[in-house]
Amino acid sequence: MVLADWGNQISSALAAMSNSTIINEETINHLLKEVGNALSRADVSMSLIIKMRKNIQAQIKLDQMAAGLNKRRIIRKVVFDELIKLLDPGVTPWKPTKGKSNIIMFVGLQGAGKTTSVTKLAHFYKRKGWNTAMVCADTFRAGAFAQLQHNATKAKIPFYGSESEKDPVAAAKKGVEIFRKEGAEIIIVDTSGRHKQESELFKEMSEIETVIQPDNVIFVMDSSIGQAAYDQAMAFKTSVKVGSVIITKMDGNSKGGGAISAVAATQSPIIFIGSGEHIPDLEIFNPTSFVSKLLGLGDVNGMVEMIQDVVPPDPNAWKEMSEGNFTFRNMKQQFQQIMNMGPIEKIVQMFPGMSNMPMLQGGEGNLKLKAYMTILDSMTDDELDGKKQMNPSRMLRIARGSGRHPREVGELTEQKKMFEKMFKKGGGLSNLANMAGGGK
Ligand code: GDP
Repeated sequence: MVLADWGNQISSALAAMSNSTIINEETINHLLKEVGNALSRADVSMSLIIKMRKNIQAQIKLDQMAAGLNKRRIIRKVVFDELIKLLDPGVTPWKPTKGKSNIIMFVGLQGAGKTTSVTKLAHFYKRKGWNTAMVCADTFRAGAFAQLQHNATKAKIPFYGSESEKDPVAAAKKGVEIFRKEGAEIIIVDTSGRHKQESELFKEMSEIETVIQPDNVIFVMDSSIGQAAYDQAMAFKTSVKVGSVIITKMDGNSKGGGAISAVAATQSPIIFIGSGEHIPDLEIFNPTSFVSKLLGLGDVNGMVEMIQDVVPPDPNAWKEMSEGNFTFRNMKQQFQQIMNMGPIEKIVQMFPGMSNMPMLQGGEGNLKLKAYMTILDSMTDDELDGKKQMNPSRMLRIARGSGRHPREVGELTEQKKMFEKMFKKGGGLSNLANMAGGGK
């Protein structure tokens, strides 16, 4: 994946810095140059790159660092934090409120992925238990009604639209009224797009906005425009009250980094990224999680959220895990849930250290998890519950019993230790930065 290449270049630069025998101005300049090149390849604007380099340089003062300080770790942390800052507008995104009808209006240019994202978001809220509905107010594009209706049927989400209605404002108003009366908690309104930022489009958007009074306006934009996203986002922001952004097609182009950083620079929070053409291909966007995944550090917070999403957690189990009592049994339950979630490549990126394993690339992830499940099945109850500690002879027995290689049992045990650390109180993503590059 193109985004992974981008991340690999930055992680390699960090690893090279970590492995260099001495840390001096030259090492740092080389690191900054490599990070800058990677950002530039992802179409991040030069002014943002220069600003980031300056910020990093201002925080790393080699001559003022006392002897014995772990310079490599400090530098890695500074770079990690600055990458997050680059993608973070520092604005808290809107969230729906229970007990009322939350109206969400979608805007964007034609072809950006608006209609697709409307369904993806409706599906997202429906899965979370919200009573959700969709309204088609795109009377401009022939086929928009049929497309949304088809998606709604597929996702089993109530839908309002009219093929004969030619007035988008009337269509939006009627749809919202109907679902409000029915007590829908989330009403998502799809509006028309145009090929260009024409005045006609902006006029129509603000008319609909005035009539339906949305609680949130989501602007959808195609990531392949890279840093040009800045001008587009600004143009929409000045016409309607854009509350948040969805960036689509992050799966297929190399300019995603440019688009995300450009949107962040407009102070609009990105809430999701679209990562494919199918309904579940919508990922919550969070700058810290994104950078963690990009650098192959995993995303424990994202993983926890995803697991919680699928199965309401047993509060005792979560409490125990966060207190550091993470057992092979917890791991087994999580793998079971994860295997029901698919697509595995995306989930694997959330595991610390796992996304870099060659055997998990290219659709092999499910096989690997299945192998891990077989190994866990060969453990005794005492081993699963942590009453018996792992040792080489146990690991050998488990490997034989499961028909897997002892190396895999070792990998699984390492993975469990990582999870344990991550779940401990006070752990989490900020600690991941320190663990990157081998923890020198
Ligand atoms: P709209 O005109 O803005 O409503 O755009 P559509 O929702 O009709 O999407 C335009 C095209 O982009 C369609 O072929 C979608 O399948 C595709 N698309 C939308 N989102 C994504 C995405 O995240 N990834 C990929 N690869 N394609 C997407």
